[in-house]
Amino acid sequence: MAKHLRYLILLLILLFVAVNEALNKMRTTSWDHPLWVRIYAVNGDGRSATDQYIDRLEARDFDAIEKFVNREARRYGVSIDAIDVEYNGRLQSHPPQPPSGQSVLENIWWSLKFRAWAAQRAWNSDADSGDIELFVSYYDTATTQSLRHSAGLQGGLIGIINAFADKSYRGSNQVVIAHEMMHTLGAKDKYDAANLPIYPQGFDAPYRQPLYPQTRAEIMGGRIPISALNAKMPQNLGEVSIGIYTAAEINWPIDAQ
Ligand SMILES: [Zn+2]
Repeated sequence: MAKHLRYLILLLILLFVAVNEALNKMRTTSWDHPLWVRIYAVNGDGRSATDQYIDRLEARDFDAIEKFVNREARRYGVSIDAIDVEYNGRLQSHPPQPPSGQSVLENIWWSLKFRAWAAQRAWNSDADSGDIELFVSYYDTATTQSLRHSAGLQGGLIGIINAFADKSYRGSNQVVIAHEMMHTLGAKDKYDAANLPIYPQGFDAPYRQPLYPQTRAEIMGGRIPISALNAKMPQNLGEVSIGIYTAAEINWPIDAQ
């Protein structure tokens, strides 16, 4: 009996989350007012080099994300600024990291923990919480060669980004932050198991001749297609666009195109 009750409670929580997300999605993709995106920094590895990097972070380290999304939104005919990005400084508590495996249950469990963590953080904070909250966890390049996955909750309006605490990664960190932010609005990944952008939806210019090499990455395709078998990471958001499929997923007016 107790077990059945536990399942019932879990089901009710999931139902509540699903309804909440559907409402969020309607509210955040109406594009009649700018969405407030708030970014927080976390020291992911506890190293002092990472601390020093975070000490030097300021609003302009994230400006490119706002400029990128607003530029792309205008291209689709959104007449206002789509987003307003602000850097809200450093947090002491750490968001729960997404599971490394593919287990659906583990992922559901993690997404609930992450939601609870973010809700509690907002509750305990005096600062205004944004429409979208992104938590960037930084790692020292001297001891971390590869980062854990970043994850934006699809429609959940919160995301965790694992990033390198190094100036030379500023541009690519911005690309990852923008990608996860798009997830929180309901955009889906457009690359395959080999990390190659899927044709046509993961391409910036899918109908250009010749098709290769492309000059930009589509934000959810992730990489710039060089040939049918090769793609490279964009260095910064200047090499990225928001394609028509992604635009449709976040409810931008694509008929203007
Ligand atoms: Zn993704």
